[in-house]
Amino acid sequence: MNPFLELQGKAKDDFYQSKYDYYKRFNLGILFASSLLFFILFVPDWQIYKQVSWLSLLLRSLVVIPLAVVVVAYRKTSNYKIMSAISLIMVHAMIWGNIWVVSYMSDQIYMNEGFLIMSFILLLASFSAPPFFAMIAQLGLIGDILLADNLYHFSNLDVMLAINIQVIVLLCLVDMIVTRFYYDHYVTQKKLEFALFHDPLTQVFNRRQLHKIMGEGHDLSFLSDNIAILIMDVDHFKQVNDTYGHDEGDRILMFVADCIRYSLRGPDLVIRWGGEEFVALLFDCSPEQASLVAERIRHSVENSVNGVCRITISLGVAIYPGGDCFETIKKADQALYVAKHGGRNKVVSYEELDEEVLAELAIKGQTDV
Ligand code: GH3
Ligand code: MG
Ligand code: MG
Repeated sequence: MNPFLELQGKAKDDFYQSKYDYYKRFNLGILFASSLLFFILFVPDWQIYKQVSWLSLLLRSLVVIPLAVVVVAYRKTSNYKIMSAISLIMVHAMIWGNIWVVSYMSDQIYMNEGFLIMSFILLLASFSAPPFFAMIAQLGLIGDILLADNLYHFSNLDVMLAINIQVIVLLCLVDMIVTRFYYDHYVTQKKLEFALFHDPLTQVFNRRQLHKIMGEGHDLSFLSDNIAILIMDVDHFKQVNDTYGHDEGDRILMFVADCIRYSLRGPDLVIRWGGEEFVALLFDCSPEQASLVAERIRHSVENSVNGVCRITISLGVAIYPGGDCFETIKKADQALYVAKHGGRNKVVSYEELDEEVLAELAIKGQTDV
């Protein structure tokens, strides 16, 4: 097992964000639990130092301040960098609070145990953070010990440092291992997500992706002001299967999916709608551009080499006016029907169909999307 992850740039950011999202409730729980621990330590303070310690109670109740900062930040952002930093600083705030409380006690004999406990709390609070943050937070503990030593001049500083440094190194390693285990879970989750929303043959999206991104009432208008929908169908595909076999047919489908993908822009969406039919959602796309893109796809399928046979594709285009997107897909399908009946290897735009054709389509009831 390699504890060092080979992730760069955005992939690394996405991974750590996912790790934070996965552990964020655990993280909040740990911070609440450790705040409670910090607070109820006024009882041992009382027991150990034999003082009626209202002062300890008062100082320990101040833990609500860093906890409130965490809760407010938690409600406002889920950025892993901000939240990891705030969580780990909160644990340090408790360490500094402890140093402060103990300064009012008769001696500091249990200070070392306190640092060891805080080191474990840092480990638990680090589950949601990148290991680099965790390492800095753990190393900060050495700074806390030295700060406390400046105030109290521990007689056993060497022993404290030796023990704490060992524990810190161990816990940093544990943190790297936890991150590595989460990485394996993350990769499996990504593969499952991919399989759920993609067509295994062509690797473009399947219909589930459309259902995932759709709003209520099958609405898409919140995604972009100008959406064009294309529906595409390979011409005489049955003949390809019959002549060259199903495997070669599959190769053609992969080729067509590639032609569509390479003709579109990054945010546009390609969906395998069924058999040899594809749907594309073109975002921020005017009606003129939509027809041009459709023509580009048609040209690419007809003129690129696919290693099997010459193939053509027919396309229907419709502009999404808002509301139920399936209504627009139906319109694009009607335009596709006209393209098929007009000789195939064509682009037809629903908006350009004349009244007569629309009336004919209405009679035929071309609604089989
Ligand atoms: P048209 O020009 O009117 O669209 O004619 P067509 O032959 O393409 O239309 P039809 O709907 O009759 O044929 C679609 C064929 O697509 C039939 C089916 O066997 C084939 N098909 C569907 N899914 C797959 C697949 O995953 N792989 C392969 N190789 N063929 C498929
Ligand atoms: Mg078909
Ligand atoms: Mg076909």
